[in-house]
Amino acid sequence: MMLKRPITWFIVFVFSILIFAVVTLYQFNQSYSRHAVRTQLSAWALAQMELETLEFRHELALYLHTQRQDRSALILKYDILWSRYDTFLRSSETEKLRQAFSATPLVKRAFQTIRRHEQAVLEGQRPRLQLLLGEMDTLLPALRDLMINNLTGPAAIKQREYLANQLKHIYLTVGLILVLLGYFSWRMFRDSLTQQKMAWMDSITQLPNRNYLLYALQKAASKHVIHTLLVIDIRRFKDINDLLGYEQGDQALAKIGQKLNSICSPYGYTCARLSGNRFAVLTTADGHYLSFFTQPLRDTLRHALDDIYPDIQLTVALGIAKSTDLDAALHKDPEVFANTLLNNADLALLKAKNASPSKDSIVVFKPKFEADARERRQLKDDLNALLLDESQDELSLVYQPIISSEPNKLSCEALIRWQHPTLGQVSPQLLIDVAEEAGLGQRLGTWILRQVYAAMNTEWQTINQHIDIAINLSDSFFSEALLSDVVNIFMHHPEQRKRLVFEITETMSIDDIGRFSLLMNQLRDIGVKLALDDFGTGWSSMAVLNHLSFDKVKIDRSFVEHMATVSRQQILVDTICYMSHQLGIRVVAEGVETQEQLLSLQQMGVDEFQGYYFSKPLSAMDFYAFCIDYLSRQNTFSLKN
Ligand code: C2E
Ligand code: CA
Ligand code: CA
Repeated sequence: MMLKRPITWFIVFVFSILIFAVVTLYQFNQSYSRHAVRTQLSAWALAQMELETLEFRHELALYLHTQRQDRSALILKYDILWSRYDTFLRSSETEKLRQAFSATPLVKRAFQTIRRHEQAVLEGQRPRLQLLLGEMDTLLPALRDLMINNLTGPAAIKQREYLANQLKHIYLTVGLILVLLGYFSWRMFRDSLTQQKMAWMDSITQLPNRNYLLYALQKAASKHVIHTLLVIDIRRFKDINDLLGYEQGDQALAKIGQKLNSICSPYGYTCARLSGNRFAVLTTADGHYLSFFTQPLRDTLRHALDDIYPDIQLTVALGIAKSTDLDAALHKDPEVFANTLLNNADLALLKAKNASPSKDSIVVFKPKFEADARERRQLKDDLNALLLDESQDELSLVYQPIISSEPNKLSCEALIRWQHPTLGQVSPQLLIDVAEEAGLGQRLGTWILRQVYAAMNTEWQTINQHIDIAINLSDSFFSEALLSDVVNIFMHHPEQRKRLVFEITETMSIDDIGRFSLLMNQLRDIGVKLALDDFGTGWSSMAVLNHLSFDKVKIDRSFVEHMATVSRQQILVDTICYMSHQLGIRVVAEGVETQEQLLSLQQMGVDEFQGYYFSKPLSAMDFYAFCIDYLSRQNTFSLKN
């Protein structure tokens, strides 16, 4: 594990203290031992001197009492003692001894005494030797005292006790320092582990997080390990939060995390939660035969997702990126390598999410995706410039008629078009996505409102009181700013606000239902009507209808399309009509392409119809012509021939 700098310094500090303590102890031990050796040596030297003095005195006494003539033993003892005293007083080895124990005067006195009687010893002069014996007897106790007092006496014992105590104190102090250091080191280590865990762990799923994944990717890159990254998005997860609340949403995420971990563990693969409903798996496979893993992964997640909430059909989108697809030169910078691989997997996931959300989809990264991403970036820049340019003619609105079953009533839906100079027609959905991603949703919305206002007061001036205009709201345009936009733009014709219908889809993010509903009421207060668009495509249609009040619901094209072939669709449309009418909500059917569809929808009681059967989206001028024709005939399109 990577240690942070302060911890590294702390550990260096701890080790310095430790080394200092050990060195101090070692030095003390060395000096203590040296002291002990010196004490032993001096004890031996002094004891030897006393012993030899005693032996000479004993030999002297023996010679005097036995009257014997042989003096060789006496002379030998004398010589030994002579050289002992001489060595003691002159040798460099006994210098410390002479100073430490102030033995010099005494030994000098003893040496002088025996030297004074040297002649008497050599010649055996008994009277003088008797004198020497007497002097020796007075010297001996002093020599003994020297030994006892200075070596084995209380002072020496005290000194040794002092040393031993000192040693004990050093041991205790060092021990205490070590215990304290150990305690603080442990605390710091534990704290750093917790911090690292928090920095690298996702608290909901207990899986590693994005930071850890990047670290693992960098490690794999720096070791040149071939690896493949899978990024997984649980689609429609938003429905769980919307329907069951965030608590259950978190529980579901935790379950998904557990499942994912159980699939990855046997292979030793790392799995992580990147954000929201997005997970990642870092495999050590080269990606060519990865289906051995992706297949069971998809199946296991599929079952787990079905179990979590059977009524919400969650699906899996999977983006795959292989390390072998990256330029080998990138290995030089593991951070860039890791970020590029993650980016590639994200791009593959983006493609996978283009597929229908009702099916699982897996997409492997292709270099072309980078070009698409570049194109998206270019679209963002271009759109930004267009919205600042009053005279641009790339963006325009077209209006698709919406026919009412009641006579003399006509509506239209404003739909955006972008004729790009190099890319041609940009799909409206892509345009809206790009605008939202680039944070331009609100500015684009304001531009659309202004266009509608302009059309109402120029092309449609003479008929505008007869037509309603539906405007699609994107995520970021549905905000408090929308209210002031409507008021400001329609300042000179506030009565025209009644002609506006704002279309909201249930897939829009409703983070705060209270705020959402308040804004809807405020819009309604200034005369704007509200429609629930693409009804039936999400999984929470009923919940939305239950919590928010709409003037219209727009049944999605897919229902109308399959009505003739799938009898359930007919029953559903019938039921939606009945239920909406009970709630006082008008029903609009989208994508009416044939007369048969129109007839069955009419039979079911649908109130308004939109589709190619009547007209494709038209320019403002063409829509005016359409209106004049339609209104002049005072007719409904059920009679169209
Ligand atoms: P939508 O709101 O469901 O708009 C209806 C789409 O269905 C339009 O596609 C329309 O041209 C198409 N359509 C209408 N009748 C038929 C039919 O009979 N058959 C078929 N096959 N299609 C029909 P378009 O204009 O491509 O718009 C697609 C989506 O882009 C819209 O779906 C809407 O979600 C979004 N969009 C378009 N213009 C705007 C806009 O100005 N603002 C916002 N926020 N979104 C817009
Ligand atoms: Ca719409
Ligand atoms: Ca629609």
